[in-house]
Amino acid sequence: MAVVHEIESDDMRAQLEFTLSDISRTVIDHFKCPEDLMRMEVTGDLSEKPGFFQFGDSGATCYARCSAFRPAARIVEDLRDVSHHIQAEGGIINVPFDPSEAIEAIRCERYMRSEGGAAKSFSSGRIARTGYYAIRRFLPVSARRHLQRFSLRDWNKRAFPRWPLDTSVEQIMGNLVKLTLKSRGLDRLPFIWFWPDGATAAAMVTHDVETVYGRDFCPQLMDIDDHYDIKTSFQVVPEGRYAVPESYLEEIRRRGFEVNIHDLNHDSQLFKDFAEFQRRAKAINQYGVSFKARGFRSAVLYRNPDWLNLLHFEYDMSMPNVAHLDPQRGGCCTVFPYFIGDVLEIPLTAIQDYSLLYLLRDYSLGLWKTQIAMILDRHGVISFIIHPDYITKKREQRVYQDLLEHLSELRKTAGLWVTLPGDVNDWWRQRSRMRLVESGDGWEILGEGRERARIAFASLEDDELVYRIADRGAAVASA
Ligand SMILES: [Zn+2]
Repeated sequence: MAVVHEIESDDMRAQLEFTLSDISRTVIDHFKCPEDLMRMEVTGDLSEKPGFFQFGDSGATCYARCSAFRPAARIVEDLRDVSHHIQAEGGIINVPFDPSEAIEAIRCERYMRSEGGAAKSFSSGRIARTGYYAIRRFLPVSARRHLQRFSLRDWNKRAFPRWPLDTSVEQIMGNLVKLTLKSRGLDRLPFIWFWPDGATAAAMVTHDVETVYGRDFCPQLMDIDDHYDIKTSFQVVPEGRYAVPESYLEEIRRRGFEVNIHDLNHDSQLFKDFAEFQRRAKAINQYGVSFKARGFRSAVLYRNPDWLNLLHFEYDMSMPNVAHLDPQRGGCCTVFPYFIGDVLEIPLTAIQDYSLLYLLRDYSLGLWKTQIAMILDRHGVISFIIHPDYITKKREQRVYQDLLEHLSELRKTAGLWVTLPGDVNDWWRQRSRMRLVESGDGWEILGEGRERARIAFASLEDDELVYRIADRGAAVASA
């Protein structure tokens, strides 16, 4: 890294400023707090290779280069904690790693490249057979293979990502806000609240249409959704699965629901080979235009963040928070949308209907409710995949209707914003362009859409981070 000995010109000063703020960029972009309130510097020489370490005792796992010690090549029981090597004084946080590198590495699953993180398929063992034969004819071949390989042994015991939800990214960022408050002696840090109109959190229900049975069930499914006054999105496979007449797409749009693209032909080969991916991406992009779709999800949540920008969509929904039950392991460990280049990634944060009903054979709302409560508590986005193909029968439908009932209840009682992926995308982009500036003796939000935005404050209470929305007064919850 070059050392700037002397600042000779405004240009150079601007460049240095950029370098200094770059490492805090992801945190500032997430909170939309005033840039000059958050200053970090990397201390010492970073290790050549990235590795795992802990940040704080709340279980935030990091994957990055580190100057304090050699980070672990694989996840172990007791990862070393980097907190003891951080100094926060004089308004600057001195950290022995690059926080933006650590956050990006988790969000984009770069930790899966480590020797200990390499994706392993499920070990062969007990097959979850009960219920499998009943639904087999509805399942795509890839899902059948996955079910056949699936073993329930120890799947939820992994230390990282954590089941049933991993919020390492939020914890890293929260720790840095805490340190900012301490280092600057601030009572509170102002930021632009995460959701419009002061909503506590966001929720979206999405439907991946897998087969002709699912396609034909869509009108009934829209009736069910409408009964709860919840509009949803339909991800449609453009090739090879079923015919996609324009009238079908038009009906979804006309009723106020959303059409997105689901893979190309759902053969699970989309990311196998780069040349083939390029070819398929072109076709997918063309379908995006002709289906008037702004969003995308790949088959079986297969993904490669490095290739995502070849897909010309505003948002992608193929990244799970924790992927223990999906064929491709990993997880982005956040409950918030984030940008990968120009594409907004809206992660899947709740267990899929398929995994809940057919892998775990759980027909209760328990696990969904647990995940919902955890995400509400962190003010993130609660997102669901419900396949029309898997809920044509009464028993499965009952579970889904209970979920919709629960969401509509939370909309009334907890300030949950239940909305479409397209609305989440629009809001998050608009918010990303807003700025929080000093105005008189207070703060003001500038930018398009600001009438729906709220100023919020982060402060410390008993060493816990607490958020308050300005015109509400009361604490909305701890982070
Ligand atoms: Zn699918």
